[in-house]
Amino acid sequence: MQVFKFGGASVKDAESVKNVGAIIQRFGENNLVVVVSAMGKTTNALEEVYQLAKQKEVNKAQLALQKVVDFHKSVLSDLLIQSDEALSWLETEKTNLLEFIKQEQVNLDAFNYDQIVSRGEIWSTKIVHYYLTEQKITNTWLDASSCIRTNSAHKEGKVDWEITEQAIQDRIKSGVYITQGFIGSDGKSTVTLGREGSDYSAAIFAYCLNAHNVTIWKDVPGLLNADPKWFNPTELIPKISFKEAIELSYYGASVIHPKTIQPLQNKNIPLYVKSFLNPDKSGTIIQRDPYSDHLVPSFIFKMNQTLLSITTRDFSFIVEENLEEIFGYFHSFGVKINLMQNSAINFSVSIDTSPKAAALIESLQEKYQVLYNEGMELVTIRHFDETTIKRVMLNKELYLEQKTRHTCRLLVKDLG
Ligand code: ASP
Ligand code: MG
Repeated sequence: MQVFKFGGASVKDAESVKNVGAIIQRFGENNLVVVVSAMGKTTNALEEVYQLAKQKEVNKAQLALQKVVDFHKSVLSDLLIQSDEALSWLETEKTNLLEFIKQEQVNLDAFNYDQIVSRGEIWSTKIVHYYLTEQKITNTWLDASSCIRTNSAHKEGKVDWEITEQAIQDRIKSGVYITQGFIGSDGKSTVTLGREGSDYSAAIFAYCLNAHNVTIWKDVPGLLNADPKWFNPTELIPKISFKEAIELSYYGASVIHPKTIQPLQNKNIPLYVKSFLNPDKSGTIIQRDPYSDHLVPSFIFKMNQTLLSITTRDFSFIVEENLEEIFGYFHSFGVKINLMQNSAINFSVSIDTSPKAAALIESLQEKYQVLYNEGMELVTIRHFDETTIKRVMLNKELYLEQKTRHTCRLLVKDLG
């Protein structure tokens, strides 16, 4: 068994859906699970529908929903899908969802979020299923919520591996299956796994089926050593280890969903990241052996950082006791620490600039002296050397530096 995952960009319109069909035909094994995200920016659009409904803007919510449904209808018609079932199904979907919004407008919560936002994946997979069927590619549409069992933590479902493994093995035998990313069920209703969770879904299916491999098809050639938004030119990483991929995502590289690697690593299932625009190119392989990890240095950028410098008011040492209290503040304000360093009387951290951070600073100031500096950038270099550091430091002022054997972290400010 093989698992393919197609993200939103790979099914953003009728042409893309045709391309997905071509890739399945050319590169898919006979036994294949295809995990598909919602089309293009559908999840964002459905979040908007949910928000409007929550604000009791029922008319606006209905209009927004109509727009998303119309888009899916236009894709069906561009694909020349003519089965009666395909045409009537989307109408029923719309009616049901409109009804749901009206009824549920009081007390909209994470449960309702999941019921609304998860439909994007249902629609995209139905469209792919109808298209493949018209192309005479035999395939089975599979409801992922009957496969992936979670707890009832809506918007961030936690997987029950035992029930999930059994359900997946019961439902998936041989042939091509089209199913959704991002969604599962607590046994009663749909629960989503968190935004961008489709990579993780692919890993769950692969784990439970002991798949040979997983391929994530993306609009980039594979894993790049930096985000092209901040860094040019970037380089493709042809091969890295599971461990290195986890390290990169820890520091903020946003190429694959961070939860994806662990299940694959546990069963030693290689993960390919390939371009759906250039499917013949080899892309990146993420696998067990670490011997190539150092070959391409990676650069991970976190922009919009605030550097906090926390000092005791009486200039006493920062010791375990204060640290415990300080960490307590961060925890209760839900602020994540990206980098920390301490000296005798000073504890410095880099955090994302946000309203939450501002509230935290205000609260900390009641007890500590807190200085802060906004507009910072945190750069992490994996497998650094002097040249890579020089490259990053060009026209930057250094505020804080941390080095371990493989990782260099620099908190800098742009000199403009
Ligand atoms: N469609 C969902 C999202 O955009 C899940 C995913 O694409 O991975 O967050
Ligand atoms: Mg998506």
